[in-house]
Amino acid sequence: MAMIFDLHSHSTASDGTLSPTELVQRAHRNGVTVLALTDHDGTSGLAEGRAAAQDLEIRFVSGVEISATWAGHTIHIVGLGIDPDFPQMAAGLSEIRESRKARGIRIASELQKEGIEGSLDAALEYAGNPDVLSRTHFARHLVAKGYGNDINAVFRRFLAEGKPGYVPHDWVPLENAVKWINASGGVAVVAHPGRYRLPEKELHCLLKYFRDFGGTAIEVQAGSHGAKQAGLFAKLSRKFGFASSCGSDFHSPVESRVDLGRLPALPPNLTPVWERFAY
Ligand code: AMP
Ligand code: MN
Ligand code: MN
Ligand code: MN
Repeated sequence: MAMIFDLHSHSTASDGTLSPTELVQRAHRNGVTVLALTDHDGTSGLAEGRAAAQDLEIRFVSGVEISATWAGHTIHIVGLGIDPDFPQMAAGLSEIRESRKARGIRIASELQKEGIEGSLDAALEYAGNPDVLSRTHFARHLVAKGYGNDINAVFRRFLAEGKPGYVPHDWVPLENAVKWINASGGVAVVAHPGRYRLPEKELHCLLKYFRDFGGTAIEVQAGSHGAKQAGLFAKLSRKFGFASSCGSDFHSPVESRVDLGRLPALPPNLTPVWERFAY
């Protein structure tokens, strides 16, 4: 049987719209055989996801997507095959979630200056898990209020870097994210490296830094990567000796461009990241 891996996805435990159970069921319907749930800065969906997977022909990987800062840039580090109960990571993630709340208050006050009232309470309503408050939750509210046709449009108008509702934020240092993931028994993966728009030199600097601190893999196939970027990151995987990952970064049936399990296969001559963790 062909194996189909999707190693990056979100549920209502962070900024996805499907519950962990619904997500696992959809992945299974789409033919996914190995699914990682990688919610932002939290692991509260993993137990439900794993239980849902037990009833189906699908293997479940405990994952997380940690918001990190490197050289002033926000970089997302996916952990695969982690132990969510590892105390150092659980404590670190809890601090990040707290800082999300503080940032959310500031986002709401910036939006208020734009004449948008009450966005904090509204965003918290959109958050299935108010413990992980995301810009995505603000975006859903802004779309509902008619500030743009879709999530992407309101990000470009209000929430993306440099826009009026954007609040710069210091996440956890990248090396801490990698350290927690490794110490909890998982492997660390740079999520969607094509999204950071780093100049080539800085990108290479990031990858070297990540490798020096114990990083294992980078996403080659990602929901936000086109064919050209997949080719580039395949090359960089080989150059830096990284394993390669593939994940849709699915958030929602109506918002996500790439559905669960619908990414192209990894290019040849790569080491798939699933050779590096138990699942
Ligand atoms: P946060 O971690 O709260 O800063 O929010 C980041 C999340 O916002 C990402 O994980 C995406 O789900 C979403 N996001 C960021 N940029 C965009 C965009 N241009 N269009 C749609 N969603 C976006
Ligand atoms: Mn997200
Ligand atoms: Mn991300
Ligand atoms: Mn993601």
